[in-house]
Amino acid sequence: MCEAVVISDKAYNAIISEVFEWHPYETGGILLGHVLDNGIRIIMEVIPPGYDEGLANQRVFHEMGYFEYNQKFVNYLAAHVSSLYRIPLSLLGLWHRHPGSMDTFSLTDDITNRQFAALDTDGTLSGLVNIDPYFRLTMYYLPHNDKGLFRPAYQKIHVYNDSSLIPDEYFEMKHYRGQNKNAHPVFEGVPRTFFLQGHTANLRKALPALAANRNKLYLSWFPYHS
Ligand SMILES: [Zn+2]
Repeated sequence: MCEAVVISDKAYNAIISEVFEWHPYETGGILLGHVLDNGIRIIMEVIPPGYDEGLANQRVFHEMGYFEYNQKFVNYLAAHVSSLYRIPLSLLGLWHRHPGSMDTFSLTDDITNRQFAALDTDGTLSGLVNIDPYFRLTMYYLPHNDKGLFRPAYQKIHVYNDSSLIPDEYFEMKHYRGQNKNAHPVFEGVPRTFFLQGHTANLRKALPALAANRNKLYLSWFPYHS
């Protein structure tokens, strides 16, 4: 279930910045945040797609009608950013730019979205950005138990882009919070070996779905672009 999405100012700004930097090429990113008991998603952070343009495997590609993540980079940075918060962030889904005013998914997108929804019992978010000519973000939700037949049964979700709607506790950093003025915290975590097997496992499990699509994405030029 997903009733609405609230996106932090930082995350919304990051999507706009990434789109404008790469305009008119495609780009995208990873959405990190929280799932509330009432089904509302809180997007706290957006992870950029990475560096090393188009060299070989594990690189990022920004092209017209084609886009691919640098998966090593995304896995690393997502785990890092998540670990900075007192309440660690979860993988909520993906976003990417589409050409023109196309704010619906390609068949290749369907495959990726279904893989992400299948990996997470909370389902997945998938956002599309258009510039026609103003920046526009359309957010969709795909439940874990998708009832769609040929095409997934996406639900269009309203996005509230306003940090003031997000509970304060989600902004608290893990080790240093200004109001506490404690610059010398005691180590409260677990050894690195445990950490790597812990909450990063969710991200590591989900993101290889992008790799499985790699060859299909190459065949996905208009109208079935990525
Ligand atoms: Zn697409």
